[in-house]
Amino acid sequence: MPVNSEKFEIIAADLKEKDITLVAVSKTNPAEDILELYDLGQRDFGENYVQELTEKYEQLPKDIRWHFIGHLQSNKVKYIAPFVSLIHGVDSKKLLGEIDKQAKKNNRIIDCLLQIHIAKEETKFGLDENELKEIIKIDLAGFKNIQVKGLMGMASFTDDLEKARVEFKLLKALFDKYATSSITNCHFTILSMGMSADYKIAIEEGSNMVRIGSLLFGKRKAP
Ligand SMILES: *Cc1c(COP(=O)(O)O)cnc(C)c1O
Repeated sequence: MPVNSEKFEIIAADLKEKDITLVAVSKTNPAEDILELYDLGQRDFGENYVQELTEKYEQLPKDIRWHFIGHLQSNKVKYIAPFVSLIHGVDSKKLLGEIDKQAKKNNRIIDCLLQIHIAKEETKFGLDENELKEIIKIDLAGFKNIQVKGLMGMASFTDDLEKARVEFKLLKALFDKYATSSITNCHFTILSMGMSADYKIAIEEGSNMVRIGSLLFGKRKAP
């Protein structure tokens, strides 16, 4: 599938005006497609798989900001720790600890988002409200090489966008609850929600970072 550069320019301009960060989700798409959007000015790209991300990092310009948006296994953090810009899907203390450790080894601070389980489906990863509270209240102070920058969530896969809206509202309310509190290593400024099918709704509900793949790169082949 060719890159939809016209669509990209329209979406990018609209989001820029609204001060919303566009993460172009490039998973399964080749490096040359990424370069096409890069040449149009895009710098934030999202990937789901560690090996694919490290390969693309090697091949592509070094001023790209790479977002890891998939489910990250602790034993793979070390491969992306030297360069990753933002890890979206953090959902356990164990993973936070490993990211902190690898960040320290690389002498840097890694920005993270905590993933909240907002969809009704069982399959989605993420923390519930109580688990979020636990992690924020108890666990963060010891991790000096991470910064928790906010929350990420995925709505249910559904044609009923009003259902997605309810889930986004929930996430925004949680975000607001913690945005004002002062917690060590934790400063909420980023709310990552919205994908190709539901990003407009997500923005209406307060998202300031959207993750858009298929609208820009075309439909993905099955993995
Ligand atoms: C694949 C993916 C996206 C992009 O999905 P599209 O429907 O192609 O826009 C966004 N967020 C996450 C976490 C993803 O895995």
